[in-house]
Amino acid sequence: MKPTNQPPIENWTTLQSSILYGLSRWGERYFSINEHGHITVQPRGPKGESLDLMELAHELEGRNLKLPLLIRFDDILEDRLNQLHQAFEEAIVKYKYTGSYQGVFPIKCNQQRHVVEELVSCGRQWHFGLEAGSKAELLIALSLIDDPQAFLICNGYKDQRYIETAILARQLGRQPVVVIEQVDEVERIIEASSSLGARPLLGVRAKLSSQNNGHWGNSIGETAKFGLSIPDILITVERLRTANLLSELRLLHFHVGSQVNDISILKNALQEASQIYVELTRLGVPMRSLDVGGGLGVDYDGSRTTTPASTNYSLQNYANDVVATVKECCESNNIDMPNLISESGRAIASHFSVLLFNVLGTSAVSSEIPAAKDNECLSVRNLRETLISIKKIPKESASDISKLQEAWNDAIKFKDDALSAFRLGYLGLPERATAEQLTWACAKALIERLPKNNLIPEELNALRSTLAATYYANLSVFRSAPDTWAIEQLFPIMPIHRLKENPSQLGHFADLTCDSDGKLANFINNGQIKPLLELHKFIPNEQYIIGIFLSGAYQEVMGNLHNLFGSTNAVHIRLTKSGSYHLDHVVRANTKSDVLEAMEHDPEQLLERLRIASELAIRQGNLQINTAQRLMDHIETSLRQSTYLHE
Ligand SMILES: *Cc1c(COP(=O)(O)O)cnc(C)c1O
Repeated sequence: MKPTNQPPIENWTTLQSSILYGLSRWGERYFSINEHGHITVQPRGPKGESLDLMELAHELEGRNLKLPLLIRFDDILEDRLNQLHQAFEEAIVKYKYTGSYQGVFPIKCNQQRHVVEELVSCGRQWHFGLEAGSKAELLIALSLIDDPQAFLICNGYKDQRYIETAILARQLGRQPVVVIEQVDEVERIIEASSSLGARPLLGVRAKLSSQNNGHWGNSIGETAKFGLSIPDILITVERLRTANLLSELRLLHFHVGSQVNDISILKNALQEASQIYVELTRLGVPMRSLDVGGGLGVDYDGSRTTTPASTNYSLQNYANDVVATVKECCESNNIDMPNLISESGRAIASHFSVLLFNVLGTSAVSSEIPAAKDNECLSVRNLRETLISIKKIPKESASDISKLQEAWNDAIKFKDDALSAFRLGYLGLPERATAEQLTWACAKALIERLPKNNLIPEELNALRSTLAATYYANLSVFRSAPDTWAIEQLFPIMPIHRLKENPSQLGHFADLTCDSDGKLANFINNGQIKPLLELHKFIPNEQYIIGIFLSGAYQEVMGNLHNLFGSTNAVHIRLTKSGSYHLDHVVRANTKSDVLEAMEHDPEQLLERLRIASELAIRQGNLQINTAQRLMDHIETSLRQSTYLHE
């Protein structure tokens, strides 16, 4: 393409991109835009080392790590841990809190080995521990934690083997706390303890009455799935007392549900839990720790509001409120302040993962104006005149809304006329096409003339989406961003390059699956949601790479094999002081063999069947030997490759 043919790059700055996509708000310390219009990653904040994400993507592709690609910035993970501990340290100093803070990572948030290992190793300096919610997660926790001071919080449903394993782990020199979540666990614990002749460390999970809102709102309250009601807590205490195990009950736990949007909900829960803690102490329980669970939210859209994609508090606000609320309650009741434990998953693991995918192509209605022909039918001629009349209206003359509306009503009428004529056989396909194109051209001309205020009739506003494009994403949302589908979660999504260019096309993404739900069509919008994202015109044969940010929590394990799209390539990156990076780990994408085997198919048998079928076709003279070979090559190669599209 000659340079003169390129659309002029309008006066558009990276700052405008940053504002448009909300990057300056949700990107916080970690993401910004450089002078090339590329996103940069700076894991230690604006003053630390930084890396050009677009260049990184190219270099990784050069190593045959094709898109879609999950990039995990381990430095960000470490920084999140740092931030969390700093926030609590600061709060403890500020409020002269006499207890300590010690966190654990809830494994369910991201069970990937490299992720959990990284957290355990970075967290060693703070005796950071792990929280397990199942026997399998307990096995991970047991094998990875070797620090005798780190906590190993055992939650979830527990059978005899779970309980015995946790009790015995104490003799390995670990600190497993068996949190009683169900009434019937008490008897099992007592039984296990007496049969093993060993004493467990115990905790109890309280069902609070304080209500959370949002998606996980029913994690607390009377109908919550987990936790003991107050009467059950009292029964449990007495049962442990008679079994002579009360001296091992050291911890009170609660969890308000994930992504708490409103800090006041947390404060209520904290007050209630602190009071229960105090009362337990009064009953003679030698309490030591208060575990405030998870729920620390992520401000996905950066709006600082109580909407589901946001939080009205910062990490520091959170730490301050936890520390101050517990202190106040203990002080006024004259009891020692507990050691605080938190189980933040989302807030630790979201920021470090960026999922990159490429756009394969776009489709949109064509708004090109077809050349006029002789003897065009009346409705087509009318549409042409309507278009001319719209174009006569000066751009952005805010007063002419009614004229615009009138013109659009005309356009719709003439288009309907054309469609009726087509149905009755008076109009051929080429003329029908002309009528449709002219209608879209009218819509486009109208949109260019809409004033930039909120007083636009809904119908005219909706025209924007009629002209929006579908961008085809080399991705399965069911595999890589399942919560966008399952619970309509919003993630920041934006191009990682071309950010010096005006993104003049509105669009949404359709994924590779044959499922109409397989799309990304909800985007952050500063406390609201928008169905279309400003994107750049897709240029065929040029890469257009989009990032899904803050996606490190929960997505990988919730992702499924819909249409047999498997895991993407994943890499762990560490930045070096010189502004370069290490590739710490590479986790290759699932191959097609992998996903077939996951469904109990045997790739070898599959190949063998096809070999027999092609032999037969050769014998019958329907297939040449060399084309048969070509087919087998395709199939063999395909089995070894990832499930996504390759260029
Ligand atoms: C899920 C869960 C967490 C983690 O919650 P986040 O909102 O990700 O911090 C913590 N504790 C328990 C008991 C959980 O079930």
